[in-house]
Amino acid sequence: MKTLLPTSTAGSLPKPSWLAEPEKLWSPWKLRDEALVAGKQDAMRLAVDDQRQAGITIVGDGEQTRQHFVTTFIEHLEGVDFEKRETVRIRNRYDASVPTVVGAVSRPKSVFVEDAKYLRAQTDQPIKWTLPGPMTMIDTLYDAHYKSREKLAWEFARILNEEARELEAAGVDIIQFDEPAFNVFFDEANDWGIATLEKAAEGLKCETAVHICYGYGIKANTDWKKTLGSEWRQYEQTFPNLRKSKIDIISLECHHSRVPMDLIELIRGKKVMVGAIDVASDAVETPEEVADTLRRALQFVEADKLYPSTNCGMAPLARHVARGKLNALCAGAAIVRKELGVF
Ligand SMILES: [Zn+2]
Repeated sequence: MKTLLPTSTAGSLPKPSWLAEPEKLWSPWKLRDEALVAGKQDAMRLAVDDQRQAGITIVGDGEQTRQHFVTTFIEHLEGVDFEKRETVRIRNRYDASVPTVVGAVSRPKSVFVEDAKYLRAQTDQPIKWTLPGPMTMIDTLYDAHYKSREKLAWEFARILNEEARELEAAGVDIIQFDEPAFNVFFDEANDWGIATLEKAAEGLKCETAVHICYGYGIKANTDWKKTLGSEWRQYEQTFPNLRKSKIDIISLECHHSRVPMDLIELIRGKKVMVGAIDVASDAVETPEEVADTLRRALQFVEADKLYPSTNCGMAPLARHVARGKLNALCAGAAIVRKELGVF
């Protein structure tokens, strides 16, 4: 990345009210068929424009093409029955009715590649595309076929790798896998989760990232966070193996969370997307607050490896709040660039 402290978001931005009900996670589409395709593209252009106006360096689609960060991808796969639903516990935190794996899983055709080509055509800036990680995918399903979390994760890793190679060919610069499950299932993450993530990223020449967070600001997550004590040390469990992994960038929640900043030391050498925007609050950070978080991170990550970002996606926020946070992120990064003698 040529720009020092290149800014980006963790992924999602709010959707316009004509596409889906605003300020609501996983809100159903308001359009259908061809109108939906056109609506998603229009929304993507607005998301790109919001990022351009704020001065975001690495542009995403704001996840305007996804209703849900995991299930929209799974909807396009064979072997999963969305009519047959079972209630399971998601990340040991809340119950949800989820689809069932009924047979061998496969990807009959690419899922997001046309959307990624559309995004590529909208900007000359580097672009990032987000996909769910294998472990987070299996945690959002009931498996009546493989009956093994590990086996299913390897199958999804193979499918994700097919998709990722096509996204790379479409001109995506960074492919990010979302793995919030790494903050919950430490033993599995270390036994095979990180290995399946590397399989998903195998053979890619573009950069790869993994986003590990404490989730959107929804009640199930904020309630869970209250049980985690005064210091959140979950990252400590997986960082040593992530440091050894082939993944280039680690995306983390750092702002207003109880994550001790010095845990970043455990991934020294990796590029770090430092969450400097709280997505669980409507209060827009000041540029100085953002700069302060980045300065603290600079104690543990070299300046040329620090990527200012948001803690998680901003889908549930009001659009003006999300825009304010994008502006604050860029203004905060500019303060620190100046301090580093780069303009
Ligand atoms: Zn997240």
